[in-house]
Amino acid sequence: MSSVTRFAPSPNGLLHVGHALSAIIAHDVARKNGGRFLLRIEDIDLDRRRPEFVTAIFEDLNWLGLTWEEPVLVQSEHFSDYLAAADRLIAMGLLYPCFASRKEIADAADPTKTDPDGSPLYPGIWRGASAEAIGTRMAAGDTPALRLNMEGALQTLKEKRGDKPLTFVEIAEDGSQQTMTAEPARWGDAIIVRKEVPASYHLSVVVDDARQGVTHVTRGQDLLAATDLQRLLQELLDLPEPVYSHHRVIRWSDGRKLSKSNRDMGLRALRDEGATADDIRRVIFA
Ligand code: GLU
Repeated sequence: MSSVTRFAPSPNGLLHVGHALSAIIAHDVARKNGGRFLLRIEDIDLDRRRPEFVTAIFEDLNWLGLTWEEPVLVQSEHFSDYLAAADRLIAMGLLYPCFASRKEIADAADPTKTDPDGSPLYPGIWRGASAEAIGTRMAAGDTPALRLNMEGALQTLKEKRGDKPLTFVEIAEDGSQQTMTAEPARWGDAIIVRKEVPASYHLSVVVDDARQGVTHVTRGQDLLAATDLQRLLQELLDLPEPVYSHHRVIRWSDGRKLSKSNRDMGLRALRDEGATADDIRRVIFA
């Protein structure tokens, strides 16, 4: 079966060898079976995105010898689509406004409970808030984030699917397949529409993977837990289920993550030092 894959970087820094691994795996999976490789610019973080990083993504991927289909999808041009998906969840009664600040959440949260990203699990401050309380904040000009009522979402899932467990298929590098159980509840009442922008990472990813017909999501192991929440959103929004491959993440030998902001192992710097695209492939697949 031919697959549609994508590389979906956020243009808030220069690409490093970890991104090269993600991009090359997505590219090679598609090329191996006559599929399609797509590039998506995930720039909903309007404060951090920079046009020069978008240009650098194209240049660095070109240098790696990768080719992708045009046009490239740029998420910031599609906010209305993410809002339309959020509207469906609102109509299902599954989103609620939350005006709590980071500090208010940290103060009210149970310190022993964190989500898979390590953030305090949202303690439900605005869940079930009165129309009056919401109206007062709106009248004051405050913009809320919209959170998923996780309990309600799991209930809706049950009504749609009965007791069929929420799962996804994970394909390892050697091609072996495993069915994994998704546990979205560990994200709690996650943010689906952010305060600052009319979207969130999880919402825009599922909308775009479906819109672009992505059949095989390849990305780093660091996004494995995100799959749980994304599978839930796909089911709630009646979107198709892709298969997944979460590949190893390249780190420093002491376990530290590579960082875009420190320009760790940046592709541009390596190229300037005389490395070739073949050198990069050799290093990441060593
Ligand atoms: N934009 C995300 C990142 O740069 C990747 C999203 C994904 O592959 O699902 O980490």
